[in-house]
Amino acid sequence: MKTLNDFNFKNKKALIRVDFNVPLNEKFEVTDATRIVSAKPTIIKILEDGGSCVLMSHLGRPKGVQDEFSLRHIAAKVKEILGVEVKFVDACVGSKAEEAAANLEPGQVLLLENLRFHKEETAGDKDFAEQLSKLGDVYVNDAFGTAHRAHASTTIVAQFFPESKCFGYLLAKEIESIEKVLKSGEKPVLAILGGAKVSSKITIIENILDKVDHLIIGGGMAFTFIKAQGGKIGNSICEDDKQALALDILKQAKEKNVQVHIPVDVIAADAFSNDANTQVVDINEIPDGWEGVDAGPASRKQFHDVVMDSKTILWNGPLGVFEMESFAQGTIELGNSIAEATKSGAFSLVGGGDSVAAVKQFGFDDKVSYVSTGGGAMLESLEGKTLPGIAAILE
Ligand code: AMP
Repeated sequence: MKTLNDFNFKNKKALIRVDFNVPLNEKFEVTDATRIVSAKPTIIKILEDGGSCVLMSHLGRPKGVQDEFSLRHIAAKVKEILGVEVKFVDACVGSKAEEAAANLEPGQVLLLENLRFHKEETAGDKDFAEQLSKLGDVYVNDAFGTAHRAHASTTIVAQFFPESKCFGYLLAKEIESIEKVLKSGEKPVLAILGGAKVSSKITIIENILDKVDHLIIGGGMAFTFIKAQGGKIGNSICEDDKQALALDILKQAKEKNVQVHIPVDVIAADAFSNDANTQVVDINEIPDGWEGVDAGPASRKQFHDVVMDSKTILWNGPLGVFEMESFAQGTIELGNSIAEATKSGAFSLVGGGDSVAAVKQFGFDDKVSYVSTGGGAMLESLEGKTLPGIAAILE
């Protein structure tokens, strides 16, 4: 796998696909700069080598050229985070962009205008990609968040750099973390899947059954499994048409020697509200009119023990309706268990969807080994798919 360390960027112009799709408030101020901060090590390495950086990204989902989606709004923030001057050009292809790139000196950074002002970007247009390729000597992909898209700047442009393309540090770290879990993880390997729906995780479950020793199925997803096995789930969320599939997953797990852990008790609420009345009940005996909204105390203990016994841990999806304070405790305690296991030497990866929001909200992000930066890209990786943006560099 070619990374930045295989290149010396002295007097070279790096064309870097970053993911600067950051949230802005009504004053066009960046409200969460995590993605810019994450790209910093790659940019700094190139500048310190004596090279220059041409940064390209999308921002939002503009329909044609719309000023509210201009990357101009974030240029000052990028400058503040990098600690170097950042030039902005209001084009990403054509003579204006080419001239700005040509005038770039070693040690300088140029930010291009929003790639998605051109429909050719998401269409993966080859001519557009070729125009982009004129802006740099080496192509660096550091945008995991869009690596599952075969867009011009994430995938197609790599064709024009047959010998001079590589992963940035962020993307390399994402790939390594996924491989640690799915390929080379120290055993026992545990996957924790929570969240609302089984249907959105089927392909992931089927892929990881071959790779894990333990599987925790928590959150709203668990009720489809409980009902399929004859339990009473009251008003808990359930996908009735997925019950047969749930039973099949349990059968496959048994054949593959994967130990499946499903909650044994739940916090049941009499309404889907933070102020609802609650009680702890057996997960198979949820009374009519009540619904399971969080893992119960016995389940938390059960999950803690499995987590502490594991050497490699993947966490995707919360154990309850963590957005409501009253139902967040199961998710918080799981986060604590994973943090403790990590401290004792386990490798832990949190990725894909709401568990990332949960770890950030509850402050676990620096207590786990790695928090993925890409939702959809992470989910597709866990499904076993080769992401086009990654394949394009490896080819
Ligand atoms: P996902 O995006 O698949 O990870 O699902 C995350 C969502 O699952 C969050 O919004 C949670 O509120 C929701 N969730 C987790 N547990 C439950 C539950 N027991 N009942 C309803 N929703 C749940």
